[in-house]
Amino acid sequence: MREIDLLVRAGFLYPMTGELPVLRDAEVAVDDGRIVHAGERLPAGSWRARREIGGPTVAVLPGFVNAHTHAASLVFRGRTDDVAGGSALYDVAFRMEKTIGREEWRDLAWAGAAEMIRSGFTTVNDLWYAPDLLAEACAASGLRAQIANKVFDVALDRLALDDYTHQPAIGEQRLREGVDFAERWHGREGGRIQARLGPHASDTCSPALHRQLRAEADRLKVGLHVHTAQSRREVAEIRRAQDRGPLEYLRDLGVLAPDVVVAHLSFATDADLDAVAATGATYAHTPTIYPRRGWYPRFDAIVRRGIATGFATDWMQNDPFEMMRNAVNALRLVAGDAGAISCREALWYATVGAARIMGLEHEIGTLAPGRKADLVLVELDRSHLQPFYGDYAALVFYARADDVVASVIDGRVVMEQRRLAAVDEAQIQRALRRHAASWQQRLVGLGALRQ
Ligand SMILES: [Zn+2]
Repeated sequence: MREIDLLVRAGFLYPMTGELPVLRDAEVAVDDGRIVHAGERLPAGSWRARREIGGPTVAVLPGFVNAHTHAASLVFRGRTDDVAGGSALYDVAFRMEKTIGREEWRDLAWAGAAEMIRSGFTTVNDLWYAPDLLAEACAASGLRAQIANKVFDVALDRLALDDYTHQPAIGEQRLREGVDFAERWHGREGGRIQARLGPHASDTCSPALHRQLRAEADRLKVGLHVHTAQSRREVAEIRRAQDRGPLEYLRDLGVLAPDVVVAHLSFATDADLDAVAATGATYAHTPTIYPRRGWYPRFDAIVRRGIATGFATDWMQNDPFEMMRNAVNALRLVAGDAGAISCREALWYATVGAARIMGLEHEIGTLAPGRKADLVLVELDRSHLQPFYGDYAALVFYARADDVVASVIDGRVVMEQRRLAAVDEAQIQRALRRHAASWQQRLVGLGALRQ
């Protein structure tokens, strides 16, 4: 009999290891933060577990990995969903975010971290303002994270006026904050919190700032995380200033490398995709935002080139099942072929693939001995999931975020019976309600919301 910290019982186990199919009546044994067994249920008396969760009515799968997100971006919820992509970004988001104060960032960070855990994400790759506040929320709530400060050297709120003037003072300050954050936080909480440097986008940093970010990332031994070919305006600006595509430009600057996550690639050309493939840079694919904006990137052309790819929510609702559904539906529709992507592949991109592009594939993304114990429990005893045969499609097409009832990260039970262990959600909701009137006023002031 072996003493362990935690035993997780599974009616169905989705190990995502490649060799193992979906298993019935299985279990995951966890000790000291790591998985010691993930497979068929061993004979009674094999374990003496200090804690036991799960049971015959749950499916256990690797925690979802959100490879490109902005946890605090929920402040825009509903305000940028019914307008064109350019308008959402330049007229609303960039102008509104400038008005947000530190206390608001703190409350948004906590709300975002709580929402991620509730939805089944156990790891996020985040890029935005106030990285230290998000890191505090992640450290306390238990969420695993790579976090980057958003670095740029234009006045983002003036891009709506086509003012692309590079202002070195802005860049210096944003870079310094990003480097300070990385120096203070990278590797904390036993490695659960890591840092990246975050050039905001190809067009919002000058060439000199891009090079500086690359050099600092090398010095600090952290990766980069950048929006690329996200909007038509970005592509047009790089074409005008650099006479090439945004990814060709970043390659030529020496920025792209295997430790770089590029998000979006919505308007990337073949030459851009070749630049990503040749440098080994990796790709965060955000299936929920694309259809809402009315376009879809050439996923097939991307993965055919061997570009490492993982799924992410960006700043839309953080429901991993809806994210996978959106990808499967869109890719099948575009291809005119239901065989274009399988549900197992979708789950792979949301777990293994996303872990791989964050450089974490040897630690998380699958359930196997030696891996860190990051897993979620999906309650199957619900009318919309019955009958449950253990198919991948049953999860991808029918499950939803609030079916996730428990979450384990780094071996720690961070949510059980849909109650977060270390987050006062009522307090967060009160704070958001308190801020909402002021946010509304500011949106009205920007002309982004009617009174
Ligand atoms: Zn984004």
